[in-house]
Amino acid sequence: MVPTLSFDRLRSILIANVTHLPDFRTGQNVQYEIADAALGAFAVFYVQSPSFLAYQRDMQRTQGRNNAQSLFGVEKVPSDPQIRNLLDPIPPSYLGPPFWTIFEQLRLGGYLKPYQGALSPWLMAFDGTGYFSSTEIHCEQCTTRELSDGLHYSHALVTPLLVAPGQSQVIALEPEFIMPQDGQKKQDCELQAAKRWIERNARRFAPGSVTILGDDLYCHQPFCELLTAHHFHYAFTCKPESHLALYEEIALLAKIGAVQEFTERCWTPRRMEVWHYRYVNRVPLRSEVPVRYVNWCEVTITDESSGAQLYFNAWGTDHTLSEPMLHAFVTAGRTRWKNENEGNNVLKNYGYHFEHNFGHGHHYLAMVLVLLNLLAFLFHTALDLCDELYRRVRSALVSRQTFFHDVQALTRYHFFASWRAMLIFMATGLELDVGPPA
Ligand SMILES: [Zn+2]
Repeated sequence: MVPTLSFDRLRSILIANVTHLPDFRTGQNVQYEIADAALGAFAVFYVQSPSFLAYQRDMQRTQGRNNAQSLFGVEKVPSDPQIRNLLDPIPPSYLGPPFWTIFEQLRLGGYLKPYQGALSPWLMAFDGTGYFSSTEIHCEQCTTRELSDGLHYSHALVTPLLVAPGQSQVIALEPEFIMPQDGQKKQDCELQAAKRWIERNARRFAPGSVTILGDDLYCHQPFCELLTAHHFHYAFTCKPESHLALYEEIALLAKIGAVQEFTERCWTPRRMEVWHYRYVNRVPLRSEVPVRYVNWCEVTITDESSGAQLYFNAWGTDHTLSEPMLHAFVTAGRTRWKNENEGNNVLKNYGYHFEHNFGHGHHYLAMVLVLLNLLAFLFHTALDLCDELYRRVRSALVSRQTFFHDVQALTRYHFFASWRAMLIFMATGLELDVGPPA
């Protein structure tokens, strides 16, 4: 039987993982365990407060107990420099498994049913995002670029997110880092990182069960071939300037009336929209041989009453296009924006600059921290799907900011025996129904 997913269950998945992180220490300093360092950093991201651990050390001193221990399982609260030193040598691949365990638990628990779509069971949006850049601070894993004003150091990663039309939450999967690769002289890039992710993780998904969404960069023959070889579908933005042969062919086909067109009216809560599609099956992705053929679809959405254009995009895909499925196809293709709007923006705008707290490290620290940050993001998403009380409290407090401010203030001054005890405290204060005991 699949256990019900809860904060405690999620926490036990994380604890099981971090208690097996490798220990690279050679000295006698065993006071602070690596698990405590990982859980401590995770807690900082989870409550989105750089001061969380300092407050918990204060609480330990004054009250003899603390929330880092009761909520997150931190046995002995480490200092920021200790966290930095303990986590810096850990290769980030060690923190991949919890992403997959949580995904599997969400799937087995039936929490991802609303994510199973009409086009294919899963839609996965790929996007690259930078999360660090400097002209001074750097580590062994920084990507370097020589610009006119000197060397620039940066970190970026590809974040695959499970998305679905109509679902406000995106599910973070294990990311792939864009970083110097052993034995490679050329700098790494987003597309190479995405390829590694596909090769490493294709076996986790049933053949044909995933459609990968991405921007124009991904609509590239070798990448599409790799996806087909691994039994993934794809639907990528396809722009004229980067697909000359394809658009020449479409122009020729249009002249002889071979580009199919279809228009439909769609009611939305706000207005009546007109969706005009143009589509062709089997057009060349490039001019050089061997040529790969893709299917192409363009949509223009306008406001029926004003005639104003609301949306325009075109895709290259391996899904065979036909009139009855165009609406579902375009709706699925448009959810890619969720990746940019919800996933990465959450990390960039709603988290905080973790560098300021723990530093950049010499080996892997920057990457380990971004993984813990993403895991914290995944915890909140998972709770929103599986925990009714969490959902009620979040929705009663309306804004994300209010929720985190309250969590930060409560955990600073008040000891809670568990995460659930804190949620019940908040729900009671908000006069919400706390439901049956867990
Ligand atoms: Zn670096």
